[in-house]
Amino acid sequence: YSLDHFVIPDHYETALSSVLIPHGVIMDRVEKLAKLIVQEATGPLVVCCVLKGGHQFFADLVNYIKKNVTRGGNSVPLSLEFIKVKSYNNDVSGDVKLSLTDDECKEFEGKNLLIVEDIIDTGKTMVQLLAKLKKFSPESVKVASLLIKKTPLSNGYIPDYVGFAIPNAFVVGYALDYNEYFRDLDHICVISEHGKEKYAVKN
Ligand code: 5GP
Ligand code: MG
Ligand code: MG
Repeated sequence: YSLDHFVIPDHYETALSSVLIPHGVIMDRVEKLAKLIVQEATGPLVVCCVLKGGHQFFADLVNYIKKNVTRGGNSVPLSLEFIKVKSYNNDVSGDVKLSLTDDECKEFEGKNLLIVEDIIDTGKTMVQLLAKLKKFSPESVKVASLLIKKTPLSNGYIPDYVGFAIPNAFVVGYALDYNEYFRDLDHICVISEHGKEKYAVKN
């Protein structure tokens, strides 16, 4: 969509080329995913937010799960966990760093985990994260990713719950960043070449 039709903060106006998914559409999709997740839950869920990009999706998803329960939908108790993962500098795939200590992972034993991630690109981050988590014998592990990118570099990994499949472009907003910027943008947008320069890491 054209940027002209949406409310965009002034500081990002020239840094974006289009709105890919407007905020309202994201919210509708997240509500639907919340319903599905609750319907399919077999017991209490440990909802694990993959920071930082997953935090907005996580917050809205947890909110909709709570609303679904209070509106008489299926009921499931939640506990909340936070995992920090860093894998990108500029927009190039690099090494994957996980912040989980073994002590923190031990409490996952016998639990039903729901990993909440912003986007699956090559799938490398999620495959590594899942391998690490499974060593701690959770009862089950499911993954909800707001986005999955259609890319020839995919390792074939597909999450249990997906919000939207998107084209192979670098997207920002709704907590997805470019060098830590654009997390403060409601819509999911495609960054422009000018935006990549304006918000590049200066060495
Ligand atoms: P993967 O390991 O699947 O290649 O990359 C996963 C991580 O890379 C995501 O969780 C996200 O942090 C980052 N990433 C991949 N593609 C994009 C993108 O288009 N925009 C942003 N902001 N981050 C991305
Ligand atoms: Mg992520
Ligand atoms: Mg990032």
